Amino acid sequence: MAANAVAVCSWGAGGAGGLPAAAEEVLTFAAELASGLGAERRWLFIGQDPQRAAEVAGRFGVAGIDWVAEPELDEFRPDVYVEALRQYWELRRPRAMVVSQTFDARLVVPRLAGRVGCGVVMNCLEARAQAGGGLEVVASAYGGDTRAVYECHGPVLLAIAPNAPRRSAAGALSRPAVERVKLRLGGVPERAAVIGRSSMPVPRLEDAEVIVAGGRGLGSPENYKLVEELAAALGGMAGASRPIVDEGWAPPWRQVGLTGKITKPALYIAAGISGASQHMVGCAAAKTIVAINRDPDAAVFRYARYGIVGDCLEVLPALLRAVRNRSGAGERGEGSG
Ligand code: FAD
Repeated sequence: MAANAVAVCSWGAGGAGGLPAAAEEVLTFAAELASGLGAERRWLFIGQDPQRAAEVAGRFGVAGIDWVAEPELDEFRPDVYVEALRQYWELRRPRAMVVSQTFDARLVVPRLAGRVGCGVVMNCLEARAQAGGGLEVVASAYGGDTRAVYECHGPVLLAIAPNAPRRSAAGALSRPAVERVKLRLGGVPERAAVIGRSSMPVPRLEDAEVIVAGGRGLGSPENYKLVEELAAALGGMAGASRPIVDEGWAPPWRQVGLTGKITKPALYIAAGISGASQHMVGCAAAKTIVAINRDPDAAVFRYARYGIVGDCLEVLPALLRAVRNRSGAGERGEGSG
């Protein structure tokens, strides 16, 4: 492996074909970085199906798959993962290692950086090579209000923010070779254990193509059903701002934003939501944002492609009627205008 290579690291099934759900995002990030560095890319794939990984990697110009499938890594155990990645790092000594910032990765990445003595940047949004050989890394900071720009010299670990907007980096098709990498993981002392995981509702808000989200402007918990009904009529999912989750109007897994879900739907309808940065960081990657707010100066309109100044308790039922009329007309074959 070239000394300036970029290693992509991923684990945890969840996406199609048993690949980590965020694998393509990480590969895209690494492709942009590596092309600036003139570096090759390798994918450290921890999992059971390296051939499927190789098919995906081939679309992103990855030079090779380093396949690790030690039984000690079947379950996520933070100390064992730190040790596994340390051994891999010592073996390959990459210029940069890119990891998706999942909840598991947050337990591993800073400790790994400490073990191998490299730099680390969390919440990364972009990274590019500089003329002098350093890296300029842009990360989200202060709850999404600010973008911090770091200059990194020497090897660095980059944890990329989930669903950070990025271009597709699909390139020339190739078929990277899969190389089995053996690690020694018996008897690793363990100080931290994952003792439970809350069950995730399926489908996930992060994957929804349409989200209708409600905020405090709904006025009362009963009115949240307007959001749920419009979401269902559009074949999407209902989201929520944090205050109404805190108040118990909507369950926690519906919360969009910095401390909730980072989404990237095709359509995001924000009803009675002010547009605070901590909320918008969870939906700014939407292709189209429609905002409904009775305050014409609400911050949410700055992000919206379409804005409706009005009372969401009137606008939501009107939209629901329009959607239902339209789908009723569609079923009766009455045109689609
Ligand atoms: P409000 O700010 O109260 O806004 C309500 C809006 O509704 C107003 O714009 C008002 O004009 C409008 N309105 C009122 N009545 C009507 C009506 N009848 N029709 C139409 N419009 C109406 N927030 C999140 O959402 N997600 C997060 O993950 C998150 N994380 C945070 C993390 C940190 C560290 C901090 C400090 C804050 C976080 N917040 C988060 C909170 C965030 O800062 C805002 O307070 C929150 O997003 C505001 O929610 P809201 O827009 O529903 O309520």
